[in-house]
Amino acid sequence: MALLPVDEALKRVLDGVHPLSSEQVPLAEAGGRVLARRLTARRTQPPFDASAMDGYAIRASDVETPPARLTVIGESAAGKRFAGTIKPGQAARIFTGAPVPDGADTILIQENALRVDDRRIEARESVARGRHIRQAGLDFREGDPVLENGRMLDPAALSLAAAAGHASLSVVRRPLVAVIATGDELVPPGTLPGPDQIVASNSFGIAALVRQDGGQVLDLGIAPDRRDAIASRVREALAASADVIVTLGGVSVGTHDLVRDVLAQEGTELAFWKIAMRPGKPLMFGRLNSARVLGLPGNPVSSLVCAHLFLRPIVTGLAGRAYAPDIRTAAITRPMKANDERRDYVRAIVDGEHDELRATPFERQDSSMLTALAAANALIIREPHAPALEPGAPCKVLILR
Ligand code: AMP
Ligand code: MG
Repeated sequence: MALLPVDEALKRVLDGVHPLSSEQVPLAEAGGRVLARRLTARRTQPPFDASAMDGYAIRASDVETPPARLTVIGESAAGKRFAGTIKPGQAARIFTGAPVPDGADTILIQENALRVDDRRIEARESVARGRHIRQAGLDFREGDPVLENGRMLDPAALSLAAAAGHASLSVVRRPLVAVIATGDELVPPGTLPGPDQIVASNSFGIAALVRQDGGQVLDLGIAPDRRDAIASRVREALAASADVIVTLGGVSVGTHDLVRDVLAQEGTELAFWKIAMRPGKPLMFGRLNSARVLGLPGNPVSSLVCAHLFLRPIVTGLAGRAYAPDIRTAAITRPMKANDERRDYVRAIVDGEHDELRATPFERQDSSMLTALAAANALIIREPHAPALEPGAPCKVLILR
């Protein structure tokens, strides 16, 4: 099979990726979720004409020629309105958020009212009619659409949903991503590796990416390099109704690379398993029942870089979020060699101002070196057969953090 170009691979991976079905969740748990349908207001806000200030509810016509004395006949507080009517020459003490009493049409702020005695105030300036009154429905009216379908429930959206009278919301279901590490050499972090073993690290970064994009993780641990062990993990993932099954390692051409075989045996319809990129040539994608299966390479850097490029768009798409990789242009600070037929994602540091970014590629690009990936904040994208570059030449960079 020829190496598949990255963009073509991504197109196949994203074919049919749409937001998942919806579920109803309490408002307090809806943060970061995506609204599954347009939200309309169940109530009007404010529900009555309300004072925006502390002061006196008055009739503007009474204070047209200041100074003007008014008789205070009651008090309207937030949560407890004054039930009487303000007649000419009268006022009511009023506080922010309180209903404006009948008859009053304006708020005289307390800084502009001189208290003459217990019952009387003096207005020292005229006030425009309607001043400092929030009309009923100023924010929204019952039946108004207040949040659109697909809106990410950020802090402001959550408060608005609450104000509009919703105690629970219909949100897009979170994609469930099952993660299966494979390899006889792997032990979990915190346990002592045997003489020929290493610590399994990939699942942790992958899980973090998934959660960051609105997915849930089912970590199925480490399967040794045995068909039955891998197959049983895959069945577990299906039994849990995973939307995406991610395998780590075992998709290369070595004798112990059994993942592709096992997945095929379990019924996976293979779309591709080799793509024209570095790091990460052995990348597998297919469909198993309704699950998408992504076989990531085992090398830690390849694994995470491929997850950035292929897993993130799947998870964000299923979660109903927008996938918007941050790709910019920067000037390289070191010469770069001509590229071969694989698109290269080169670990690099990008710094500088917005429109004058500089990208410095690391000298060591080994796909097992997590220190280099953790130190990098970007990947320089080198197209297949890109010519050699001199310092100062522009390049495309994918910002990681
Ligand atoms: P494989 O694709 O299984 O041949 O793995 C390629 C390299 O990645 C080998 O050096 C493995 O030991 C390593 N590797 C595979 N899976 C993991 C993992 N989950 N965490 C860390 N390293 C891994
Ligand atoms: Mg392996």
